[in-house]
Amino acid sequence: MAARPSAPPSGDAAISTSSFVDNDQADPLGTILVSSVADSLVEAPYRFGEERRAITVNSGDTLMALLTGAAVPRQDAYQAIEAMEEAFDPRRLRVGQAVEVTFSHEGTDTEFAALAIEPDVDTQVIVSRSEGGAFAVEELTKEFETRPVAARGSITSSLSASSAAAGVPYPVVMELIRAYSYAIDFQRDIQPGDQFEVLFDQEVDENGDAVRTKDVRFAMLTVSGEEIPIYRFETEHGVDYFDRSGESIRRLLMRTPIDGARMSSGFGMRHHPILGYSRMHRGVDFAAPTGTPIYAAGNGVVEFAARNSGYGNFIRIRHNAGVKTAYAHLNAFESGLREGQRVSQGDVIGYVGTTGQSTGPHLHYEVMRNGEQVDPMSLDLPTGDVLEGQERERFETYVASVDRQFANLVPDRQVADSSQRSANAGSNED
Ligand SMILES: [Zn+2]
Repeated sequence: MAARPSAPPSGDAAISTSSFVDNDQADPLGTILVSSVADSLVEAPYRFGEERRAITVNSGDTLMALLTGAAVPRQDAYQAIEAMEEAFDPRRLRVGQAVEVTFSHEGTDTEFAALAIEPDVDTQVIVSRSEGGAFAVEELTKEFETRPVAARGSITSSLSASSAAAGVPYPVVMELIRAYSYAIDFQRDIQPGDQFEVLFDQEVDENGDAVRTKDVRFAMLTVSGEEIPIYRFETEHGVDYFDRSGESIRRLLMRTPIDGARMSSGFGMRHHPILGYSRMHRGVDFAAPTGTPIYAAGNGVVEFAARNSGYGNFIRIRHNAGVKTAYAHLNAFESGLREGQRVSQGDVIGYVGTTGQSTGPHLHYEVMRNGEQVDPMSLDLPTGDVLEGQERERFETYVASVDRQFANLVPDRQVADSSQRSANAGSNED
């Protein structure tokens, strides 16, 4: 049996094109992928089929220069670019992007046949020569296969560092932090030795390489021995995360209305740094750089957004259930924010500053319940969204399938482990 000729070394201008010419058994379609522009075409004695070359865009390249540099005749290159402009502006080519050029061979004739680029991971723009010789463009949307990916690990320093080490992509880590922000204070609650598990969907291309991540379907954090599972589930009202008992993990208020900030002062009696004597601190302080966005902690109506003496630039929002939140010392309000405006949980309302009676950039945050300040960190106000009836049944089926899928993907899960989980699930329902 004839051995298949070895692939030509890429970048070698002196490769022998004859190495595949007389071995049509090894490559019946006559198709070969060559990665370098330097490979010479013109010496071929007889060939039939296609040859594709991937050219990489360098700084300062124009598509015209790339094509003519790849031995595309000037007139062909001009017409192909003109056709392409209906679907893609060649000036949008980025450095490092690949342009694939196809030549067809018949006998000793070599003809430029097609040009393909991928403006983004989803899209392919192909310009090809039709029977009559004119060039036409088509835009294809690529379909990717979705596959579930499971990961688990121990937290050594932080959730983000440990999950990244376990191969969890950054968007998934951010989604976990966002989803768990109601249940966990990442600054105070997470300890080394805590565990995480996550199941998410990932889109993969035809080579099995990850293109992008999709939904996080299940996660579980084990914090100081307590398991906190969450399941992403779509209801008729939208998508939400639920615990095992079918209760939304969302809360009326976010735990911290600011990203990645360090709580610099808690609620209660303290020695006041400016006044010099002890007094009650009726909120919590988050140290953060000037300009850090501040979020509305919950859905509500802006009741006050103006200068307010020692509080500096100050916002107060009225929520449901007799609850209000207040945000002080802001550097600036979100542009267009006005009193009477309805805001949603997570909307940016302003930016950290040090206006009013303040020693440095921080957010002073207060929660009032029935007119009295309470400790925002000890407050737990469920939304009351609980799955019921048919939705609950559908959810339970879904939970069982997700648990099964996770166990299959992570085969080292102990049987004792899963029974412990269902025991916990039972206690959640009490
Ligand atoms: Zn304060």
